[in-house]
Amino acid sequence: MNLPVPLPHIAALPRYVPGARGAADQAPPIKLSSNENPLPPLPSVMEAINKAGGAINRYPDMFAVELTERIAGNAGLSAEQVAVGGGSVAVLAHILQAYAGLGDEVVYAWRSFEAYPILTHAVGATPVAVPLAASARHDLEALAAAVTGKTRVLLVCSPNNPTGPAVHADEFAELMSAVPSSVLVVLDEAYLEFVTDPRAVRGADVLGRWPNLLVLRTFSKAYGLAGLRVGHALGPADLIAPVRSCVTPFSVSAVAQLAAVASLDVEDELLERVAGIVAERTRVLGDLADQGWSIPDAQGNFFWIAAGDDAADLAAHLATREPSVLARPFAGDGVRISIGTSLENDQLLSALAHYSKRV
Ligand SMILES: *Cc1c(COP(=O)(O)O)cnc(C)c1O
Repeated sequence: MNLPVPLPHIAALPRYVPGARGAADQAPPIKLSSNENPLPPLPSVMEAINKAGGAINRYPDMFAVELTERIAGNAGLSAEQVAVGGGSVAVLAHILQAYAGLGDEVVYAWRSFEAYPILTHAVGATPVAVPLAASARHDLEALAAAVTGKTRVLLVCSPNNPTGPAVHADEFAELMSAVPSSVLVVLDEAYLEFVTDPRAVRGADVLGRWPNLLVLRTFSKAYGLAGLRVGHALGPADLIAPVRSCVTPFSVSAVAQLAAVASLDVEDELLERVAGIVAERTRVLGDLADQGWSIPDAQGNFFWIAAGDDAADLAAHLATREPSVLARPFAGDGVRISIGTSLENDQLLSALAHYSKRV
């Protein structure tokens, strides 16, 4: 009997394995494993969510017109320069669908965001992973050198998830002038709002300067809407239009659209919360330096411990503490830990102080 056969590049993708779930009788773990915002929605955002929830028998606005216009207005762009999707991971999937296929190459730094290889394989393209430089930073010269005639897309993650440092404006400009204008460069700024390094590249400053540049943003991290799935790309209208064509119809719910608009209404308050997380980041890193850890520059709401072969052991140590601290290990490489609330960070610091090895 002949059964349906998936495309070979899809069949080769790793199968989804659900993560461990805590038992009901255990204290809730301190979840520092997904770079989420530790704080619940602001009251006005919650109100928008409740209100939108009362109308979920209706389809959402397929083109997210109000949200798109608000994002465009804030960025000083026109609505045609914005593509909204169900999280920026989905928007990136649409970008790759639009610009890369079988036989094409997608270049990115590694280690970087886990979604990059999966999304690249999903469109049949070939990942070209360029090792990070010292201090866990992007090696922009090596990235530029990795571009070939087959390269269609180059992904730049700043700050880099999971290692933390941001790409600098001057090195980004050099990369853009070294790369042919036919290569689409995507600057993934998921953690933009947490960046304090004055040398860091900022999408807002570079958009429009190059005709082959898109910037990727999300409401999941600083804005605290990870569970609602809304993100967007910004860039020249002729680059954005094909991305919009790939967006799955109705994939951004009305709840997500209205919560995102309500978040933009209280942006100042949300950015105050971000400042609080950044202050905690400074405190945590200072304390860790006193404990003897060497942590790469952390420009997002997370930091990286280059634990190498001890990565799984370190994460297991954190998980077995009381209360349990959940971090994100990358076996053989390191552990990424998100900045939580002040109390959560105290518990994390104590857990790390009780670990015997230092890197
Ligand atoms: C979290 C994250 C995103 C955002 O994902 P969403 O789909 O918007 O939740 C994008 N890029 C990077 C590098 C991230 O870490």
